[in-house]
Amino acid sequence: MRGLDNFKMETEKELKKIKEEILDCKECSLSKTRNLPVIGEGNHEAQIIFVGEGPGAQEDKTGRPFCGAAGKILDELLDSVGIKREEVYICNILKCRPPANRDPQKEEIEACVPFLERQIEIIKPEVICPLGRFAMEFLMDKFGLKDQVQGISKIHGEVFEPQIVTEDAQSSLFEQKRKSIKEVKIIPLYHPAVVAYNSNMREILKKDFKILEKFK
Ligand code: URA
Repeated sequence: MRGLDNFKMETEKELKKIKEEILDCKECSLSKTRNLPVIGEGNHEAQIIFVGEGPGAQEDKTGRPFCGAAGKILDELLDSVGIKREEVYICNILKCRPPANRDPQKEEIEACVPFLERQIEIIKPEVICPLGRFAMEFLMDKFGLKDQVQGISKIHGEVFEPQIVTEDAQSSLFEQKRKSIKEVKIIPLYHPAVVAYNSNMREILKKDFKILEKFK
């Protein structure tokens, strides 16, 4: 029991540290234009992490991920498979909003992803769901799946099991690990915002989300 308590305390401490670092971060120019950074929220022991692209206008105002139009769709998709938002962890590749929601730039991604890498290593999910192309490309590359990357329209909803453990994934922040990061599965999904542009996508996303029922 003591070990578990220590583990939880360590998790909280490390995530708090990341939060403080993000609040202070000036590693890229987005820190000058954003209102609030969006650190991530949800269950710190989640089995499933969703990783979006970056905050939009609503997220930038509130500091909460997926709380605008795309967030409503994400909530609906979670609901369709009986998963509560507070059971999962939701975050983004970029913690600060790109002006006018433009695409993230390479140097912004490079500056920001160490935070995401640490969040993943601390939470140790069973499943990581990149939402959309940017998150898919980064995460598949990070987990040694670069040669299997295709357009999101080809590989959405597929389960990828990384065989290669990167150096980052091997380094442990804790002596006592809940489970090895080696066991993680990557399931790329369409970004929920696609439904706002094409309502036919709703059913495709719902079908893809069904696979998550196994991991809740
Ligand atoms: N789109 C994203 O990719 N992330 C958010 O947090 C909101 C919208």
